[in-house]
Amino acid sequence: MAHVDKQMISFFVTTNCNLDCVYCYTNKKDGTHKNQTLDFDFAKAAIDDYFGTSYAKHIRFQGAGEPTTNIDLVKKILTYAKSLTHEEVTSEIQTNACFSIDVAKWIAKNIDNIWASCDGLPSIQNHNRPFLSGGGSSDVFERNIKYLVTNAKKMVGIRCTITGANVNIQKECIDYYHSLGIKYVWVDPIFPKVGELEGENTLDLMVFAKEFLDAVKHAESLGIEYGSILTCNFDRSCNYACRACLPVPHVTTDGYISACDMALYGNDKDHMNLFYYGRWNRDSKTIEYDSEKITYLRSRTVANIKHCNSCPAKHNCCGYCPGEVLNETHDYFGRKRQVCPAIRWLFTNMTNKQKKYTYTHP
Ligand code: SF4
Ligand code: SF4
Ligand code: SF4
Repeated sequence: MAHVDKQMISFFVTTNCNLDCVYCYTNKKDGTHKNQTLDFDFAKAAIDDYFGTSYAKHIRFQGAGEPTTNIDLVKKILTYAKSLTHEEVTSEIQTNACFSIDVAKWIAKNIDNIWASCDGLPSIQNHNRPFLSGGGSSDVFERNIKYLVTNAKKMVGIRCTITGANVNIQKECIDYYHSLGIKYVWVDPIFPKVGELEGENTLDLMVFAKEFLDAVKHAESLGIEYGSILTCNFDRSCNYACRACLPVPHVTTDGYISACDMALYGNDKDHMNLFYYGRWNRDSKTIEYDSEKITYLRSRTVANIKHCNSCPAKHNCCGYCPGEVLNETHDYFGRKRQVCPAIRWLFTNMTNKQKKYTYTHP
């Protein structure tokens, strides 16, 4: 499946998190969005609207912080979604997997697709992803992953951030995931946080691409699917890069409907403003949608992106992740220049089999 096929309603459950990752993209460190929790009435209205207009009955729990720090709200939202669909709803979570064993048991039993964030070998995980209270998170992470791999109702995968610390040891990290029983891994080269400039926190993406392809071959030999944000639409020919261009709803803690995982706070009124296409009205208990923004978001087809017109990968990239592009260029149709040679090189050098993914990018 291609990334653009991932259609669902996402809930940014809470801004609270029990970790203190060195690259956290959620503005957690500046404290401007502390202790925000999604309004349950807003979540219900968003589900009513989405299920009323979409064939997809898939719900997802995400940031801005760690969703399991408010597991009661996750349970309430899932129960409500099930009540509307005769239990047919499917569910997904992106989590740091550093929770109690009781939470692990509930997730294993109730969530279909479990994506756990991990940066590879315990030494890197402990450095990059320590607990807020201090100390490495690797031991708790490993305990929970082993439990989930054995007991999950459907699947458990890893979402890994690639930095200078792990770009050259992707194969060793795959061996580690294999030892935990993992079969699905997606990696993303680190990208600048919202508000940072293009170039900050970035890697040499050709170095990444070459190491990545070696890692794909190694993963294949172990029966593991290994994908990256650069290859996430290689699976099939598309016109859009992401669901952000359709758009589908991401329900924020501050009362907005966002199109993108990177657009977390509608109240910030920054250069990501384009992605907020709905607003919760607490008085009327309804969501007001901005039809002009929806039309504009939909206009980012690959045919409308000039610099992609003669690219050989154009129908399997479609202008790349619009969230990163808008953040780093302030232009929805802009170009994140350093990704293009890496995407084209991978598109040319990967086999058709290596371009196929069972589960879409988390
Ligand atoms: S787990 Fe996510 S939200 Fe929490 S500190 Fe790490 S990157 Fe930030
Ligand atoms: S960050 Fe990129 S890939 Fe993710 S939802 Fe936003 S536009 Fe899509
Ligand atoms: S690789 Fe670059 S030029 Fe080619 S489709 Fe992607 S963004 Fe456009």
